[in-house]
Amino acid sequence: MLVTEIQAKSILSASKVYPYVLNPYVGCAFGCRYCYARFMKKFTGHTEPWGTFVDVKVNAAELLERELLSLARRGKKPAEVWISGVCDPYQPLEARYQLTRSCLALLLEHNWPVRIQTKSPLVIRDIDIVSQTVGGKAPDCHVGFSIGTANEEIRRLFEPNAPSIADRIDALRQIHRAGIKTYVMIAPLMPGAEQLIPLVEGIVDYVYVDRMNYGYADSIYRTHKLEQYRTDAYFKTTGRLISRQCQEGGIPCSVFFD
Ligand code: SF4
Repeated sequence: MLVTEIQAKSILSASKVYPYVLNPYVGCAFGCRYCYARFMKKFTGHTEPWGTFVDVKVNAAELLERELLSLARRGKKPAEVWISGVCDPYQPLEARYQLTRSCLALLLEHNWPVRIQTKSPLVIRDIDIVSQTVGGKAPDCHVGFSIGTANEEIRRLFEPNAPSIADRIDALRQIHRAGIKTYVMIAPLMPGAEQLIPLVEGIVDYVYVDRMNYGYADSIYRTHKLEQYRTDAYFKTTGRLISRQCQEGGIPCSVFFD
């Protein structure tokens, strides 16, 4: 793994998903085969394969503090910050650098709502910050896990370097038990997603579902004869099934495709 410490120029960016997004790292050691974030290579000059390099924005917290103060001075109200859009904020290097932890602490201290999205149980480390009340108020922080399948063999094909499904579900359970709002992001929806809802019932507050939107992993579908799980019909049927399962379990569910 090529690890480079860098000085970033800014840390909070506008996002289409939430008002803001914060990425403490460029690149992601989990290197999921379908990952759309590999487009970052174009902007950062990286020529190495996706998943084999990580740039560490060592000045992330310092920048964030400055940007939060500047936004407040300009009369901007706190709005949801997505951590993260193009890297996993709790990938292994976070255990050493603690950049996500520092940024999370700052955002919650300044009363900014946070939406964490990860595949890593390392997020459990930060339960102390997320459950700490500020001025008698619980922080507005939701913790979500991306889990696209309940089938560990499929997970290994598409996400060979990411934590196991069981570890993610166990982490969700611990976080939910700590009184923190949790969600599961069933995206990209992969074969075996049909069995996920029973596994997360009672430990998530809501569910998001999205299909496989990019073609980076098409060769995996072809090699393993999984093409029937890459069709509009499969996504439609499975999206509806998950939606129905959620309805029966009383879990709010948003499906982001027709
Ligand atoms: S964990 Fe997320 S950001 Fe990292 S490689 Fe996988 S899909 Fe991409």
